[in-house]
Amino acid sequence: MKKVIFLDRDGTLIREPHDFRIDDLSKLSFLPGVIGALKRLSDAGYELVIVSNQDGLGKDYSWEAFNVAHQKMLEIFEGEGVRFWKTLIDTHYASENHPERKPNIGLVQPFLDEVDVKKSWMVGDRKTDAVFAKNLGVRSITLKDPLSNDGDVRITETLPEFETVKYTTWAEVEAHILRHA
Ligand SMILES: [Mg+2]
Repeated sequence: MKKVIFLDRDGTLIREPHDFRIDDLSKLSFLPGVIGALKRLSDAGYELVIVSNQDGLGKDYSWEAFNVAHQKMLEIFEGEGVRFWKTLIDTHYASENHPERKPNIGLVQPFLDEVDVKKSWMVGDRKTDAVFAKNLGVRSITLKDPLSNDGDVRITETLPEFETVKYTTWAEVEAHILRHA
């Protein structure tokens, strides 16, 4: 059984631009400290899994445009020793409420029997991420990067039933996970 850190991508690993789409290299910007933090968490025995909603990918904008920045991101992480066990991308719109779109857990279901949910975490920047954590039964951390698009993080703050701890830096997220291992 693996202990896993599920990770949202935009606004959590890399900054979310105001048009929500990282479809060009000029829009690729890492959150401060994320690479070192994930390296140390990986060294501490966590598997890393990206779970990302990319509304309209392949329809409103192309996989080619998406992959330019996405592959560069993975390449930079890998150069620093950070490898992801899985990278899961859903392309449905929110209005479709598809079983594979966060906060639903369909993308994770096929390998859930390999995951020790009690020892696992979800780190994201939105309500959908906190609800995803709840649906999965893992602990939730909301990371609110001051320079990313605000999204609906504030909604999370008004919904205490989605138990989530809130931080603004990866240093705090890393320390929290290691402290509550
Ligand atoms: Mg996000």
